[in-house]
This record gives sequence, structure tokens and C-alpha cells, in this order.
Amino acid sequence: MPYHHEDDLHLTYNPSRGYWNFVLYIEPHIGPGSAINASEIIEESTSPYAAEWIRRLTPCDPNALHVTLVGKEDAPRLWDPCVYDNPDSPSAIAEDGCVCWQTFHDPATWLPVVAHHYRTVGGNIENWRRYTYAPIALPDGERLSEFIIDSKARQFWVRGDSGNLYILPQKEGAGYGVGYSGGGPHELARMIAKIVESDGHDVTAGTPNDMPNQKIFSWVRSKAADRTQRLTLEQLKTLHRTGFVP
Ligand SMILES: [Zn+2]
Repeated sequence: MPYHHEDDLHLTYNPSRGYWNFVLYIEPHIGPGSAINASEIIEESTSPYAAEWIRRLTPCDPNALHVTLVGKEDAPRLWDPCVYDNPDSPSAIAEDGCVCWQTFHDPATWLPVVAHHYRTVGGNIENWRRYTYAPIALPDGERLSEFIIDSKARQFWVRGDSGNLYILPQKEGAGYGVGYSGGGPHELARMIAKIVESDGHDVTAGTPNDMPNQKIFSWVRSKAADRTQRLTLEQLKTLHRTGFVP
């Protein structure tokens, strides 16, 4: 199901070229960012879901969308090679350490991804941190088959019926949470209700600003929700009906 923006803005989708148009927000002195899609950080972790998402990322040349993810200080480094490819790179340190940025796109959503490499000289500390945007909808025709709470990567995922894994569609300023009583769990409870009530077809970002379904919310705010787990659409329907996950 496509995303509809409440204002006078008509987004289009071209399945042969990628995904929804990306809407930039530009503020003088601060710089460009996303107007709709929420920004996300995927830390290196032992999460199999994060690993699955990272594996499919496709290297590409830097473009304007990557610049929105890193800001003006780091933007010039998007064009530097990694120390592994060139020990004399401007982002290399003493021909062994590295603070480079590498650029990718997610072939399932066409959204930009940048990976920041941090390696100390000698390699005692080395990690990669990925920055991207959440999609605003699943690709056309995709229906939710699984909703995943991933406590290792501190992320919420959706698996579509094609088998592809997506970051749960999310609007800028409307993040999700579990295990406490606050704005994040309210938004997630409303999102689960929207998914269930559309039989898994409406996984678009953004929910009406009203009180969530209390059965879903009481589970989302509880400790039972605050651990890695996969919920099928049928389990989400039972949660909606009873307040419990079978
Ligand atoms: Zn590097």
C-alpha cells in the first residue's frame, strides 16, 4: 500500500528505477536532511537481522542523498578510499588506521546508506557503523509476513511476503520503542494496530495521533515485548484481540 502525505505533496514510485521520491529538507546553516523518512543508525552487532540487511547493500558512488546522512564536516570524506584499498588515502591514519566513509544503496528500497569505518592504528579497535533512512512504505505489492523486535541491533524490522527484510517504515520524529510507557511505544502500538486492521497491507509510516489500542499498548510497554522476537501476522492479530502473544 502506498504512502500518502497529508500535505499537498504527491510522491511517485517507479519500480524499474528504485523507490519513492526522496524529499529533502534544507535549513541554512544546518544543511540538508530528510523531510519525511526517519534517519536510522545500524550498529555493528551480533544481530542476524542486521547482518542480513548489511549483506544485500550494494556499493555505489557518493551522491547528494549520502551527503544528507553525514553532514558537511564528513561529506568530503565520502570520496576517500578505505585504508584497505589505498594506505595513502586522506582518511587513512599512518597507513593502517582508518576513519573512512563508504557509500551504498539498499537495492530493495533504493535508500542511501553510508558506512563509517573506525580502525585504530594496529587494529585493536575496529568497527563499522551504518547510517541510513527508514523507508516510508514497503515496495508495491509487499505485505507483512513477520514483524521483528531486534534488541541486539535496537531495531524494528518487517519481513515482506517476498522474503525481503526492511527497516519498519518510520516517519522523521515518530520513532518506536518497547518496554516503557512513552511516545515510542505509543507509536509502535498504533502502527501494529494499523497493520492488523489492514490485514498486513498497510505498513506505511505515520499513525493518527490518538490513543493506541490498549491491549496492544499494554503488551508493547511491558517487559514481554522488550526482547528479540519474531511475530507473524496471525500472532499480531491475536495480540490485537487479546493483549497477549501466543
Ligand atoms: Zn576504511
